[in-house]
Amino acid sequence: IDPQTLQKPHADKVQKVEYPVNDGKREKAAFVTLARNSDLWELASSIRHVEDRFNRRFHYDWVFLNDKPFDDEFIRVTSALTSGKTKYGHISPKHWSVPDWIDEDKAAKGRQKMIDDKVIYGDSVPYRHMCRFESGFFFQNELLNDYEYYWRVEPEIRLFCDIHYDVFKFMRLNKKKYGFILSMSEYEQTIPTLWKTTKEFIKKYPKYVKENNLMDFISDDQGETYNMCHFWSNFEIGSLDFWRSDAYQAYFNYLDQAGGFFYERWGDAPVHSIAAALFLDKSEVHFFDGVGYYHPNFYSCPAEENIRIQNQCVCNPADDNTWWDYFFCTRKYFEAQKFPLPPGVKEV
Ligand code: GDP
Ligand code: MN
Repeated sequence: IDPQTLQKPHADKVQKVEYPVNDGKREKAAFVTLARNSDLWELASSIRHVEDRFNRRFHYDWVFLNDKPFDDEFIRVTSALTSGKTKYGHISPKHWSVPDWIDEDKAAKGRQKMIDDKVIYGDSVPYRHMCRFESGFFFQNELLNDYEYYWRVEPEIRLFCDIHYDVFKFMRLNKKKYGFILSMSEYEQTIPTLWKTTKEFIKKYPKYVKENNLMDFISDDQGETYNMCHFWSNFEIGSLDFWRSDAYQAYFNYLDQAGGFFYERWGDAPVHSIAAALFLDKSEVHFFDGVGYYHPNFYSCPAEENIRIQNQCVCNPADDNTWWDYFFCTRKYFEAQKFPLPPGVKEV
């Protein structure tokens, strides 16, 4: 299908975005997957979904990153499944270790408290390295040096619909810097001091906060408190240059010094989301509608039937979580953007 003749889902119409022509030229863009060797089979099915629904038409490269060396089986299987070039990177220990300013006793006490509170991954040190790496370092890996855009893919994901246009070209054409599919609430016990630390940062560096920002997506009281809303970062299509910007570098370093990746369990999702909401113009953030997505344990399925038919979606719209008014945040996002709700989505 020629992208110019596609019907657009509601969100794309209200944002007045254009779909790029398929000119056969690639953007400087790649898929990025952080994974362990043991993630191979859950990842293999993710890759198959992304290739079948998108990349078999576009052949973008795929960068795999790991804190340990990838084994031969991982490399054989993943490179057989992908239609672009594959690259395998080892993460520098500097990006996957506890920095020397962290008080290890305090970190251990923080983990014990989370075990008592039954917080998911509360006791895990590797999970904390993962969150810190995805927050502050993945875009610094040298294998990504030549790329401007990325699409993050995790094990165990599914895509339910065809994507007929080049999403990376789309980002450039429409001046988008961060794209998401699902948004929801964070567990407060994982980030007790993240907002306090963010407010200190903003006070120190007000110049980094964009005037036309999305503060109303992340705060219900103009920034006094964080409402826990975040973009679900297991799917992201974004600009690497945004994460490499002075604003984001300064923000990440400030957070890293505060130690919450280890004393608490700050996730890359709230960190990326707060940064996108404050340091981007709200027109640079994009809701990818019409794609259909699953990552355990939540679903996105396009609300409009004509879009599901056109894009040959195989999801059941009854499974969709996007528009739930409890725990999920995309309604809040639409309010903050002043977008009317899609047809068929009921007001609450
Ligand atoms: P969840 O989505 O929050 O439940 O966390 P995941 O277990 O899916 O981890 C997020 C991403 O980081 C996935 O792509 C994992 O494959 C990857 N990941 C998690 N922990 C590690 C780790 O210790 N080492 C490596 N190399 N990758 C990890
Ligand atoms: Mn995951």
